[in-house]
Amino acid sequence: MTDIDAVRLDKLDKLDERSWQQRYQRSLMGVFGDPQELLVTGRGAWVSDSQGRQLLDMLGGIAVNALGHAHPRIVEALTQQAQTLGHVSNLFTSVPQMRLAEMLLNAAEAPEGSTVFFANSGSEANEAALKAVLRHREATGKSRILALENGFHGRTLGALSLTHKPAFRDPFGDLIGGIEFLAPNDTAALEAAFEDDDVAGLFCEPIQGEAGVQPLDDAYLARARELTRSHDALLVFDEVQTGIGRTGQWFRFQGVDADVTPDLMTLAKGLGSGVPIGALLAFGQTASTLLGAGQHGTTFGGNPLAALAGQTTLETIQSEGLLENARRVGAHIASALAGVEAVAEVRQYGLHIGIDLDPSSSSAASPAKSLVTIARENHHMIINATGDHTLRLAPPLNLTTDEADIFLARFTAALKDLPR
Ligand SMILES: *Cc1c(COP(=O)(O)O)cnc(C)c1O
Repeated sequence: MTDIDAVRLDKLDKLDERSWQQRYQRSLMGVFGDPQELLVTGRGAWVSDSQGRQLLDMLGGIAVNALGHAHPRIVEALTQQAQTLGHVSNLFTSVPQMRLAEMLLNAAEAPEGSTVFFANSGSEANEAALKAVLRHREATGKSRILALENGFHGRTLGALSLTHKPAFRDPFGDLIGGIEFLAPNDTAALEAAFEDDDVAGLFCEPIQGEAGVQPLDDAYLARARELTRSHDALLVFDEVQTGIGRTGQWFRFQGVDADVTPDLMTLAKGLGSGVPIGALLAFGQTASTLLGAGQHGTTFGGNPLAALAGQTTLETIQSEGLLENARRVGAHIASALAGVEAVAEVRQYGLHIGIDLDPSSSSAASPAKSLVTIARENHHMIINATGDHTLRLAPPLNLTTDEADIFLARFTAALKDLPR
């Protein structure tokens, strides 16, 4: 041991005297604003916080904790893998990496010739997809790429270029050129955009998550599939939030009442049950070879530890019947919420649930944001607001009916605490 204590362990040990809020503000960049709480432990759909409270977690780390907190199978798999082989670089491969790729291709019913690229996050999966679309744009001489208003694809520069929200983009000046935004579900605008035969690709979330669980219509998605196919454009589904069982299907596109199998699909959030991992699926031989040898890469992507987290997540969703559970428990929540007076609309796809509050039900400037605080402080429950009147739920896929009933009781009680 060196005698110079550069990280100041002696001093850090005394920092306990400060509040966690002070420690956070003095050491973490302010991009997220102040955290709501300091969380300490978790088990299933429950987390305990710095005050020792048990909170019902109906957000699941924003659709990430597909199996809840500390699922025994994830704990066991990661412990074993950490003892065996944690990281190998992409100059080598590992069994978990290949096995997870095979499982994803099977779950997606991908045709012969389909392949997977592993990344570490949703943004990075979308970066890879965008680079593939840029390769197609180069090869075809087309100039435009389409994405949708209210969509969200991430914060890295490529993913941000595909994200419409001005508050996210404008601070950074020029982003990647040639990307245009269309109004979601506007079929006439979509058809008009393809008239010039100049579109290289279309990016969309089949259900817009950050927009408050807003679905694209089946007919709109079917038309998008037809137009992209007939105009030699790539259809890219960002299923970072909707994938891995969230909507009660392995992937949302499989729940659409038409064959809308995309050319490219991105995944992340629920894939690793909390371990960072993202993936790009390329459907068929042509999509699979858009990015050639040396044209993309990553240090960590698909390492054995992250890949085993993914593998164990998919195995557990299957063996515990969690697609069915997500559909059943989600429908139970939605039907109960439909009878709640302050609730104007519920959009429910498995355990991906958007709730619009009736604007006349409260005098608060942002009833949804007020309700997040009331729910946590008075009713010990984590929920999420995506707008002033819109809430989003994305609890673990193994949420039980009893836990759903606890949520419903606490939610209706929280609504009564909103200022009239
Ligand atoms: C969260 C999200 C992303 C970004 O994922 P990160 O892991 O935060 O980079 C991209 N697309 C969608 C639809 C998302 O919900």
